Amino acid sequence: MSVELINGIYIVAAILFIFGLKQMSSPATAVRGNLFSAVGMLLAIVVTLASREIIEYQWIAAAVVVGAIVGALAAQKVAMTSMPEMVALFNGSGGVASLFVGWAALYNSGNTTFTIVTILLSILIGGMTFSGSIIAWGKLSEVMTSRAIVFGAQRVVNALLLVALIYCGVMFAMDPVLDSPYFYAVIVLSLVFGVMAVIPIGGADMPVVISLLNSYSGLAACAAGFAIHNNILIVAGSLVGAAGIILTNIMCKAMNRSLANVLFSGFGAVKTATKVEGEVKPINTEDAYLILEAASSVTFVPGYGMAVAQAQHVVRELGELLEENGAEVTYAIHPVAGRMPGHMNVLLAEANVPYDQLVEMEDINPRIDNIDVAVVIGANDVVNPAAREDENSPIYGMPIINVDQARTVFVLKRSMASGFSGVDNPLFFGENTRMLFGDAKESISSVIGEFKG
Ligand code: NDP
Repeated sequence: MSVELINGIYIVAAILFIFGLKQMSSPATAVRGNLFSAVGMLLAIVVTLASREIIEYQWIAAAVVVGAIVGALAAQKVAMTSMPEMVALFNGSGGVASLFVGWAALYNSGNTTFTIVTILLSILIGGMTFSGSIIAWGKLSEVMTSRAIVFGAQRVVNALLLVALIYCGVMFAMDPVLDSPYFYAVIVLSLVFGVMAVIPIGGADMPVVISLLNSYSGLAACAAGFAIHNNILIVAGSLVGAAGIILTNIMCKAMNRSLANVLFSGFGAVKTATKVEGEVKPINTEDAYLILEAASSVTFVPGYGMAVAQAQHVVRELGELLEENGAEVTYAIHPVAGRMPGHMNVLLAEANVPYDQLVEMEDINPRIDNIDVAVVIGANDVVNPAAREDENSPIYGMPIINVDQARTVFVLKRSMASGFSGVDNPLFFGENTRMLFGDAKESISSVIGEFKG
């Protein structure tokens, strides 16, 4: 294949990536966007395999088979609620792949200083992405404590690590011989740095970290692309790097935090929220039905518990019944509800909830005091007024959906247990709050039963 033809097809693949990403920004077109990007990736892989001077295909074929089996099984078996863990592992795989590509590129003859620097960058960023992602996975899956691990001289140790990394990198770049101890030191220090960077970050901040690590895996791939002179790897890596950092920024804004605060504040390690006590007012499904039946505006506020209960289909059914009954129905979506960005949008789209009924936090909050009933379905942190009022709370400053300001609030959950951040929720004791205890799907099904008589 001529270089022109290869680069031409790479441009088509890059256009498909960009077009696919654009379509992924709306739930209505996201599935198609995913398909466009996948076709772009297939084109890029086929052309790369057909064009490079590949000596033998056996190892590549074996890797394709293993990768395809792992990917297909993961796509089928991994529950939607465990998606962030899977994304963490995929980011880690991307990181370690870039590390190996960079390492292998060292064996190419005629490497310039620029290439050596890109090799070092792919190893440094790839290595820290790999080990950082493994720690993020461990925290999310609770294989290890999800709390922030902080100790006295942490920042000094991290700064020393960084200095040692730069020193070894510079020493190697000045004399890039194979088997240089500085080279191996860069690999080890990158891995240690990834661990040290992620352990002081609390579990509640893991979504932001995963998104940031996603961006790093893109940057590592981009550096690897420069190291092996592959244009599509440079383009794909840059796109992942940019998309990841944009998502990171959106998530930081949703939590009202700066990225520096997420990375360095040791969130969740020291602050203890004020203990909340009071009397809760439980309600049964019959009484819940009577209140809903009389309501002229109802907003559903889904959270992680809706995903656990798989209640999205019955929620949509109840929404339709309420509409038939003359109520205005909306679904208020918090950007970090659930366990992954867009989690609630995906679930509600799966249940065919009309997109125009989805309302973002900043649009529902100004008019929430006019809502008759806010039905909180397995959400906790994202509706916790302590984030607004309790300066001692670890989630203080995080924007929430102000359901406590609606005329009546139903909270559907199984117990008084706290949410992901582990802090109490004063909403449950509110004057206008009624607790509908039980599995969200069962509770809503019972209310539907009441509606249907
Ligand atoms: P939370 O984790 O705060 O609360 C979920 C609630 O669901 C729990 O209190 C639980 O209470 C209830 N629940 C669980 N199972 C059921 C069930 N079967 N039926 C009814 N209720 C159930 O969820 P939120 O969505 O409010 O907040 C998300 C949190 O996760 C935030 O802290 C966010 O920062 C964090 N996070 C977000 C990610 C993202 O990208 N969206 C990724 C990772 C973390 P009970 O046990 O009593 O039923």
